[in-house]
Amino acid sequence: DTSGLADAQAELLAQDIDVVRLGYCDIIGTDRGRDVLVNRFGRTVSSGVAFCRSVYGTTPGGDVVDINGGLSDGLPDILAFPVLETLQRVPWEPGVAHCIADVFNPDGSPSEESPRQVLKRVVTQFAQLGMRPICGPELEFYILEENDRAPNGWARYGESTGNVYVSGLRGDPENVLLSSLRQLGEYGIEVVAANHEFSSGQFEINLWHSEALDAADRAHRFKAAVKELARHRGKLATFMAKPFNDEGGSGFHIHFSMWSDDDRPLFDDPSSADGLSDCAHWAIGGVLAHAPALAALANPTINSYKRFGPDTLAPWLIDWGLDNRSAMVRIPPERGGASRLELRLGDASANPYLATAALLAAAYLGVRDRIEPGAPLVGYGYDPERSPMLPTHLDEALDALETDTQMREVLGDTFVQTFLTYKRDEIRRFRSFITDWEFTEYTYHL
Ligand code: GLU
Ligand code: MG
Ligand code: MG
Repeated sequence: DTSGLADAQAELLAQDIDVVRLGYCDIIGTDRGRDVLVNRFGRTVSSGVAFCRSVYGTTPGGDVVDINGGLSDGLPDILAFPVLETLQRVPWEPGVAHCIADVFNPDGSPSEESPRQVLKRVVTQFAQLGMRPICGPELEFYILEENDRAPNGWARYGESTGNVYVSGLRGDPENVLLSSLRQLGEYGIEVVAANHEFSSGQFEINLWHSEALDAADRAHRFKAAVKELARHRGKLATFMAKPFNDEGGSGFHIHFSMWSDDDRPLFDDPSSADGLSDCAHWAIGGVLAHAPALAALANPTINSYKRFGPDTLAPWLIDWGLDNRSAMVRIPPERGGASRLELRLGDASANPYLATAALLAAAYLGVRDRIEPGAPLVGYGYDPERSPMLPTHLDEALDALETDTQMREVLGDTFVQTFLTYKRDEIRRFRSFITDWEFTEYTYHL
């Protein structure tokens, strides 16, 4: 689609941009892409840029996993096309604009494995019901700095205790968070607020809510930008779910509400006991019923399952509660247009497109099948007698996704198959790797 090209080119020229950084999001959520000189951008918009299919199956270590249509099929082409509405000047990189790409097969059909296409597919299913999902992402992350004496060579930036919600140099001694907040604001991320989190060296930035696809675009860009900005300051920002044994994990909470085509808030009902509509209850019911499969995408790493636990503010059980932060689904107290649920399940390592798509898919099934959520949790939320437990390992979550045929149908079977192949390879690689824990546990006494 080249309809917006002339305007886009005029805009690039006016802003002195000479390079467009074309980025697509792979399965693990990494921003992959190519830098294109502006004088080649017109051709990129009309014909796309070709990549080999390894784009979805490359591990952080650089190995190519044989996803379907991958290595064993000779790694055929796929094409990335710029989504012109997403062109955005990169404030900290003069002359560069970032543009998100959509990925297509050579025959012009959308690539079913592309995380952005997976999300679009789910949003389209809601659109057929006359519904528009709105999401507000909240991401926690650690900032680390190099230190020879620290485990793995990385120490927590501004190491300190008790700094939750402090602002200023106490928790952010070199203003890394402050300067990032400013840059993200100029980058069109629509950041609401930044704060120091509970743990030492841990921070959170909230994003304003918007249409699900736009919210996921911003969350994806946000993660890449926070890492890039930290790097500019010689630091490492990490969205790993649980990087430290002695500190809390990093969540990726998603606030989610539903609106009608004619702009009515569908989760609100002043006449019901809790102020929530049937639609909201069914959405919650769907999220609870499909939680184990949803976890595979909201908690997609082996490390993710070490974040769950009692008394952590991360969930442990499959439950919901009214303004209860120990529940997997929290209903914030506001009503009216702000009636929404907060899914606290996801961790920061999740691919924003896939975590959002999985949340929406589960809610869609809940609404479609009118799944009642049961009574909300009251008080202490970590009682395993009361509520079922979340998967305790990535393995279990992948099995749950594989057997949840309804989730597979909504998310797309080809995608789910590719995701399972990639993630099971991750587990296979981990199983044969000797960890520090084993070394400490077994070398001395045995
Ligand atoms: N760090 C917690 C998590 O992993 C959340 C803490 C909070 O409520 O801000 O979800
Ligand atoms: Mg938080
Ligand atoms: Mg939150």
